[in-house]
Amino acid sequence: MSRVYNFCSGPAALPEEVLLKAQKEMLDWHGVGMSVMEMSHRSDEFVSVLHSAKARLARLLNINDDYEILFVQGGASSLFAQIPANLMAGYRSSSYLDTGAWSVKAIKEATKYGEVQVVASSKSDNYTHVPSFSDWNIDESSAYLHITPNETIGGVEFADLPETNLPIVADLSSTILSREIDVSRYGMIYAGAQKNVGPAGVVICIVRKDLLARSQESLPTTWNFANLAANDSMINTPPTFAIYLADLVFEWLEQRGGVAAMETVNIEKSKLLYQAIDNSQFYSNPIHINSRSRMNVPFVLADASLEKTFLAESEVAGLKTLAGHRSVGGMRASIYNAMPLEGVQALVDFMLSFEKRYG
Ligand SMILES: *Cc1c(COP(=O)(O)O)cnc(C)c1O
Repeated sequence: MSRVYNFCSGPAALPEEVLLKAQKEMLDWHGVGMSVMEMSHRSDEFVSVLHSAKARLARLLNINDDYEILFVQGGASSLFAQIPANLMAGYRSSSYLDTGAWSVKAIKEATKYGEVQVVASSKSDNYTHVPSFSDWNIDESSAYLHITPNETIGGVEFADLPETNLPIVADLSSTILSREIDVSRYGMIYAGAQKNVGPAGVVICIVRKDLLARSQESLPTTWNFANLAANDSMINTPPTFAIYLADLVFEWLEQRGGVAAMETVNIEKSKLLYQAIDNSQFYSNPIHINSRSRMNVPFVLADASLEKTFLAESEVAGLKTLAGHRSVGGMRASIYNAMPLEGVQALVDFMLSFEKRYG
């Protein structure tokens, strides 16, 4: 057996230790004689898995009792609609920051529920920087302020939050648990699991409890955040296996020193890769240095006609899924928590050798 270094943006690489543990528990979880996949979601055993996942996430991100942790289905894309559906009741508009492809999709869904105020946009410079706060025009009467702190396709990331009285709603799909955050500054955080947490099928939501009061009876039952909270995310059958795997990933993170330790490694990984790109005339990354993502590193070759060769040879070298998003082309290395420093080093070594041969 040989494992590759998988740079896919999502579904993405999972820690080998987690896969091995899941394999070991596949036929007989904790002496129950079956896998978690086969258990009733109402069983004490599964409920203990769900509660373990919540407790670990709360410890990892220092989430206090003002917040509810929900496991929601339909992917982050469904949350683009579920968020305005739940949070806009009683408001005329919602506010969105536009920093790239995922912001645009979130905005498109929100316009189906009411007026959307775009507080700032970096579209005019092709989404290569995050607009500075002085350029944000926040309407304090809107329902909430939505941001996308890591644009997975463009490779644009920011961590600072603006001063506002609005609840900040953040799509952390590709950055959750990769760096320290102060949850108490957010109204709601959500993240599709398949980037930095676990398999596809579940969205991690962290919602400030006072916002649950906005969810109206008229909402579809399974979309209603208050209803999900009241039913421990089990209005209907939740994605049990995805939640179990997420719990194993949270355990793995705890064993490694938690989010702060991960952040240190993630800084090191991204520095190594950006330095290799910046030190060369052969590779380039278009994003302003202060807005560069630690998780998704897009880059292009000076000679675009070599891209196909680069991708083919990197595959052979065991460096998989380096093609950029189909909408932008070029290359993209996604280096989430499960990507070890050695994987990034192997990529950098390959890039240097490719440049020597073709540059
Ligand atoms: C991948 C991604 C999404 C969409 O996730 P789905 O689960 O495929 O709906 C939304 N936002 C961001 C930032 C993403 O990276």
